[in-house]
Amino acid sequence: MPFDNSYGRLDEKFYQRINPTPVKAPRLILVNRELAGKMEFPLPKTDPELAQLFSGNKPPQGSDPLAQVYAGHQFGNFVPRLGDGRAVLLGEFLNSHGQRFDIQLKGAGQTMYSRNGDGRSPLGPVIREYIVSEAMFRLGIPTTRALAMVSSGEDVFREEKLPGAIFTRVASSHLRIGNFEYFAARNDHEGVKTLADYAIDRHYPELKETSNPYTAFLSRVCSVQARLVAKWMRVGFIHGVMNTDNTTISGETIDYGPCAFMDGYDPATVFSSIDHYGRYAYARQPSIAQWNLAGLGGCLLPLIHKDPETARTRAEEIVQGFGAKFRNHYFSEMCNKIGLSPEERSQELLDNFLQIIQESKADFTLSFRMLSKAILGETNPLLELFSDQAKIANWLEKWKEELARQNINTDDASRTMDRNNPAFIPRNHRVEQAITAAVKEDDFEPTKKLIKILHHPYKEQTKYAEYMNPPESTERVYQTFCGT
Ligand code: AMP
Ligand code: MG
Repeated sequence: MPFDNSYGRLDEKFYQRINPTPVKAPRLILVNRELAGKMEFPLPKTDPELAQLFSGNKPPQGSDPLAQVYAGHQFGNFVPRLGDGRAVLLGEFLNSHGQRFDIQLKGAGQTMYSRNGDGRSPLGPVIREYIVSEAMFRLGIPTTRALAMVSSGEDVFREEKLPGAIFTRVASSHLRIGNFEYFAARNDHEGVKTLADYAIDRHYPELKETSNPYTAFLSRVCSVQARLVAKWMRVGFIHGVMNTDNTTISGETIDYGPCAFMDGYDPATVFSSIDHYGRYAYARQPSIAQWNLAGLGGCLLPLIHKDPETARTRAEEIVQGFGAKFRNHYFSEMCNKIGLSPEERSQELLDNFLQIIQESKADFTLSFRMLSKAILGETNPLLELFSDQAKIANWLEKWKEELARQNINTDDASRTMDRNNPAFIPRNHRVEQAITAAVKEDDFEPTKKLIKILHHPYKEQTKYAEYMNPPESTERVYQTFCGT
């Protein structure tokens, strides 16, 4: 197998070399053949062989399993050593186009970074990560992906006995801000430099040509994170645990724990059961991303300039620049949602629309999706979402005037909107229903059905119309759990 395990060639202080701990009776739940095809990853033929492979019982030939070490700011508090406590990186798979894919097993057993954890994962969070990460990919949002999930045939204990499972994650890398923080906190400048050089080589090799690759690197990570968070906001995604150890260098979304999509629009929405102060609320995500990037900037200071004051000023300027980068991305993503160009007057219309949705507690996803129907003459599906129909009708008139003023024809606008306003998102209650069926009844059909529907989030699939709807009051999910 064409593995090329570059991370494993770094010094041993960057990881612990360790094999996945075998499990008793692995059973394949799902394998992502389309992704395997894209990777050119040769899949074994039978389900039992697939289960052996993706449980970690039989690591693939050419792999070099290891657990990465990292630190992290969790809810603002620095933890000097976290690391892969329940995940093992099998290695880097290289396809014929030179594309490199980290393949990681999550729930693969204990490592030296497990602290008090069992290194395992219950089935529920594995299903959630599979469904949501694949949905994010289909929504056009940078993300790690799901290659497979297997049940382990073993129980895990989380206040109750639960079936265990292992998730196979594919990422362009697993480098996080936390990897840098680990070495910076130990004043291991050489370690930080090795990592930075490694990250630049792997993700942004063109930066090696710049006058200072490390400032360019910090700036680039700010750019990719600004773009990412703007895309989250567009679809109402709330990550839930935006700790620095869950913030990638690549700009991919990683670690789907207590994440969720907003139903009714409220910028203060929080789902995570562990986020007591709303630190990672929907609308706070950009400023938290910037806070995390400031952490990366701090780690890179000795590489930015030998004079600490100069280094600090430069890093601060770059991290300050995140604000404008984010606003540009956000504005353009949000303007697409209402079919307008990113002009000054679009801002006011956008703000007013969001304000009306919030006052009506209308569904975020449907409110935008129904706009393209409204523009083509079918206004009822939109109006029905709002308690104050006069207000939204009035907004519609102003919006149409602005479309005309910007010379945008209605067909074009509706097409743009339909490409940016999903009809289907992995709504929490649907994800919960899928998880419950799997965990309580060993029934994976709801999971598979949901994944299939979310394959085409922007296409109106009338057959599955009920999957577009927000939850009934009895179905509502108020909190999500990380399952750790
Ligand atoms: P996460 O919630 O995935 O961001 O994990 C935060 C940290 O806790 C990481 O270092 C994980 O490896 C570790 N961790 C989470 N769950 C477990 C577990 N069941 N066993 C060992 N370590 C864990
Ligand atoms: Mg994590």
